[in-house]
Parts: sequence; structure tokens; C-alpha cells
Amino acid sequence: MSKFTIAIHGGAGTILKSEITAKQEADYKNALEVALTCGYQVLEKGGSALDAVRAAVVSLEDIDLFNAGKGSVFASDGSQEMDAAIMDGKNLDAGAVSAVKNIRNPIELAFAVMTLSDHVMLNGRGAEDFARLHNIKSEPDDYFFSALRFAQLKQAQQKGEMMLDHRSLNPNKKFGTVGAVACDAQGNIAAATSTGGMTNKKWGRVGDSPIIGAGTYANNQTCAISCTGHGEPFIRSVTAYDVSCLMEYKNLSLQDAMHIVVHDKLLKLHGEGGMIGVDAKGNAAMMFNSEGMYRAMKNNEGVKEISIYK
Ligand code: ASP
Repeated sequence: MSKFTIAIHGGAGTILKSEITAKQEADYKNALEVALTCGYQVLEKGGSALDAVRAAVVSLEDIDLFNAGKGSVFASDGSQEMDAAIMDGKNLDAGAVSAVKNIRNPIELAFAVMTLSDHVMLNGRGAEDFARLHNIKSEPDDYFFSALRFAQLKQAQQKGEMMLDHRSLNPNKKFGTVGAVACDAQGNIAAATSTGGMTNKKWGRVGDSPIIGAGTYANNQTCAISCTGHGEPFIRSVTAYDVSCLMEYKNLSLQDAMHIVVHDKLLKLHGEGGMIGVDAKGNAAMMFNSEGMYRAMKNNEGVKEISIYK
């Protein structure tokens, strides 16, 4: 049995200790702890990395603290369009959905695309039809509505901007895309990412999160990565796959490969954000070039961390 590990994130961005109350900090840390435990318990019982990342992301999608599932931000037309992807490092199987509405757990829909269809990525109405066919749980608009999110949309519209969630003009409330990576006791790794995208996005904009290789990637030979941040630079630099390539072709460690991508390559494209990663030996890393990233990790050697700021 090898070392098993899970790492999760709840988004990276302008997250400053001075702008978050003790109560809010405790709420975020508690939510991270709950999700971490959901995933870790799967690994502890001998379950797969794939099931562990699903469990952790479902837990984060089910609360309104983060920008995914229930807590998703609003697009410019007042709708909530969600993106998600999951990838199995054992066989490079992958599933993704983009711009889906009313799906309670987009990560479960991405998993269904991976396991029940011949495709990798389904979009919008088609993805929702596929969800109905396979009894993937949906929720009415009310379930996703929050007055705070709506106020964020109005603020973004007044400024005429598309906003990263963590750049919220309400400094007391910051949320983020969610993700998980895990290495199980068999040495298999997996990655999952889920998001509402960016506030006031239009024209069917899709970020990096559901794009295999950009926001999400897993390969047992190298690493499993889930990203968060301003999606466009992450897409242009094929960020998650770049970490894998640096490990594969340059023989770099997970830590060193992530460092180059987060602190050099992304910054050159003004790509603010971060990522979490594991390799198939159970090593984990959590890195970001922004003020903070909601993050947590735990392994079976007693290492555990739950952090928000730098
Ligand atoms: N990467 C996401 C996107 O661009 C946003 C985020 O990570 O918060 O859609």
C-alpha cells in the first residue's frame, strides 16, 4: 500500500485576512475540513482516487460558500451557467460539461459523461438532456439564487467588467471555484474541478475549469492537477497539462513543475490564480500567485493542512 493523499481548493484570488471576519474564516475552514474528510474517508476505506475527488467536490458544490454548484455566480443574463471536469489518471478517461444550468452537482454530470457516454465534453442544453436521461439531480433556480451573488452581478455590470469571484466588490464575501486531486493506496490519481465561472460572463463564455489540460488534468505517469484563477490565461498556457509535461519531459518533481508554471509561466500572461496537485507517490503541493487560496490537504502519514492566506 502506498501513501494516500487528498488536496482540495475553494478558489484563489484577492483573499486578504484583513477583509475576512473570524466567523467567516471559521466557516470557510469548516467547509474545507468537511470536504477534505468526505474525500479522505473514501481513500481510508480503500476507495479510488476518482471517488475521493468526486466526494470532496460534491461536498463543496452543496454549500453556498464557494463558486460552484449551489454558490455559483451569475452570468450577464442573470442565469447561472456551471462548468466541471473530472479525469482518471489510471487510464486518461475524462468527462466534462460546460454552461449547464440547474444541475445540482455538475461534477457528477461530468463523471456521467466520462462513464456513460462516448464523449469527453458536453455543452449546455445537450448536456442537460443527457443529465435527464441519466437521472442526474437537478434543482430549481431558487436553490441557486443568492441576493449577494445578484448584487455582485449588478456591481460588475455597473463597472462593465467580467469579474473573478474573488475580486468581489463586497470585501466581506469571497468565494471560489472548487477542485480536488487525490492519490489512492493503489497509486492511482485523479482530478476534479467545478465552477460557476466568472460573474457577468457573456456569450457563453467558458473558462479553463472544464477544459481537459487547461484547468483539470490527471495522468498516473505524472500528476493530477486542478486549477483556479482567471481562466483565459490558464487556457492559453494549457496550464494543468504543462505541469504534467514538465514532469514527463524534464523529469521535474511535482513541486518544481508547479512552481515554474504558477510563478513564472502564468505570471507572464498575467494569469492570477493557483492550483493543487498530487503525484502517484502521494506527494501533494498547493501553490498560488494571488493573495490567497482556500486550500486543504491530508495524507495517511499524519500531514494535514487547512489554509487560506499566503
Ligand atoms: N477558473 C475559473 C474560470 O475562469 C474561475 C475561478 O477559478 O474562480 O471560469
